Amino acid sequence: MSKYLKSVCKLCRREGEKLFLKGQRCDSPKCSFERRSYPPGQHGQQLPKAKDYGRQLRAKQKAKRIYGVFEKPFRNYYAKATRQRGGVGDNLLRLLECRLDNVVYRLGFATSRQQARQLVAHNHFLVNRKRVNIPSYHAEVGDVIQTQEKSRNVAVIQEALERSEHRGTPDWLELNMDRQEGVVRALPNAELLAANIQTQPIVELYSK
Ligand code: SF4
Repeated sequence: MSKYLKSVCKLCRREGEKLFLKGQRCDSPKCSFERRSYPPGQHGQQLPKAKDYGRQLRAKQKAKRIYGVFEKPFRNYYAKATRQRGGVGDNLLRLLECRLDNVVYRLGFATSRQQARQLVAHNHFLVNRKRVNIPSYHAEVGDVIQTQEKSRNVAVIQEALERSEHRGTPDWLELNMDRQEGVVRALPNAELLAANIQTQPIVELYSK
């Protein structure tokens, strides 16, 4: 499993908005973007305005960075999205949302997708009562995601659950906080998901 090792805060600065990649820190005054909201690098403040290709590239990079997915798997998701019925952009977002690490984050078991990815890889979760440690696992409607018995008291998970109360659980998921168990009730609603990610430029980019 490859891992992004550089400063993730630079990714927010490059995309020109907060991508909330670091959990608690993102809501604190320590957030780098709050202090320096311009792109990183010596010439960060003098970058030219993006034209068509730049706009498409930035939309794709932003989506990849939000979900923590590298180029090759992202392209594979796109290819899969084109083979499904419906709009390619909506399908792409649904595929990304249904990744197990994202579902764990959305349920509130982690404060960021990066943390969720690590928790999944470290065997803290069961899917339909079977151990799954693959962050890219595709969650289906009806899947039950729960913490392993031995992981119930892990401080990181408990803290994340406490903090997640203000974030709320999306309509397509259902959380039982006491049992530390979540259920995928429906497919994610693409209209709601798309609020923060523009899929049209991504489709334009990959269709060339
Ligand atoms: Fe982005 Fe969070 Fe870093 Fe702020 S603290 S720059 S929101 S990753």
